[in-house]
Amino acid sequence: MSNNKPMPVATQISAPFWEGLKARRLLIQQCNACTHWNFYPRRHCTQCLAHDLAWREVDGAATLYSYTVTRIATLPDFMDEMPQKLAVVELAEGVRINTNLVGLDEAEIRIGMPLKPVFAEVDAKGNRLLRFTGVDKDAAAFEALPVLDAEQAPQQAAPARQIDLNDEAALQALVSDQYSDWSNVVVVDQALIDAFAQLTGDDYWIHTDPERARLQSPFGGTIAHGALVQVLQSRMKLALGFEVSGFSTQINYGSDRLRFPAPVPAGSRIHSRARVKHVDISKRGTQLTLELTTHVVGQERPSVINDLVILYIA
Ligand SMILES: [Zn+2]
Repeated sequence: MSNNKPMPVATQISAPFWEGLKARRLLIQQCNACTHWNFYPRRHCTQCLAHDLAWREVDGAATLYSYTVTRIATLPDFMDEMPQKLAVVELAEGVRINTNLVGLDEAEIRIGMPLKPVFAEVDAKGNRLLRFTGVDKDAAAFEALPVLDAEQAPQQAAPARQIDLNDEAALQALVSDQYSDWSNVVVVDQALIDAFAQLTGDDYWIHTDPERARLQSPFGGTIAHGALVQVLQSRMKLALGFEVSGFSTQINYGSDRLRFPAPVPAGSRIHSRARVKHVDISKRGTQLTLELTTHVVGQERPSVINDLVILYIA
């Protein structure tokens, strides 16, 4: 989960609502003069204009009034939640709430379906947002912060084929338009970005100042240095399916092409894949060019394209 997501800012009027959610309670204002329920939080009753609203706890029983499925993130920070099911939900008390549906497949969603609240934890400080799920679902299962599987094991493919450096035909046969399977996933959080900024001296605010980046950056929050995402390749185990053997030395010979086409917002999960682009055999040795692409999980557009040249010397 991205740590740049915009969070609600409680006001004097709305604070009881947000405090209620923290305690897993849904509090809505009811008018003492005319009993009308009001949402969002405000100072006066929308029905009779009385300035006499009381916070009352309700059980959150609701029906689905309207919804849409978003497939393109409104901010890069929400990439990890795509597709989002944005909904307007009507409580039994008659008020309507803008929210997200969770734990429901698109095929299960029907206008008018009964729903119940999910007090979804959104940060380590105990803040919660009000979401909804089907009445037959286990709401508690969707309340905890998503676990970042940073150390998720790479997909266990078949054992790597050994290819001898002298077997030129086998080496040339590796060249392919097809990418490998995805590597394991690595989380690029603000702490990692800050550490890289300190190490390299590149502490430009677009990487290191979440507050300013939220206001001024075109990305709506801090992003990782392209170079950081590039070097994180070392943490990603590629599922290439082969290993070259029979060499005395293997050298990282640099890159034929290095591009950073898409940002990596702080808090993103990234993974990578590769294909063999060229094999060139010369007197100096055998050069294998791997096209490595690193993506934010779920994103088609790569964040790094690196045509990495590896030189094998027999
Ligand atoms: Zn009223």
